[in-house]
Amino acid sequence: MAEKQAGTAKVEPLRKTRPCAECGKPSVREHYPFCSDRCRTLDLSRWLKGSYAIPVADDESQAESEDGNI
Ligand SMILES: [Zn+2]
Repeated sequence: MAEKQAGTAKVEPLRKTRPCAECGKPSVREHYPFCSDRCRTLDLSRWLKGSYAIPVADDESQAESEDGNI
């Protein structure tokens, strides 16, 4: 068994690693396109929050009340 192939930690991919979408660090294949599971969770939670923050039904009523308040 060659020691070169024993460890997979030092294997660098030929392709350029994209920066983590969350923190900008080089992403790892395991958590692609993020650098870690933490960043992936952060991005996911942010994405979920984003969708919750844009209620379509509320947007309509809000625009109406703001425009024609009084
Ligand atoms: Zn990251």
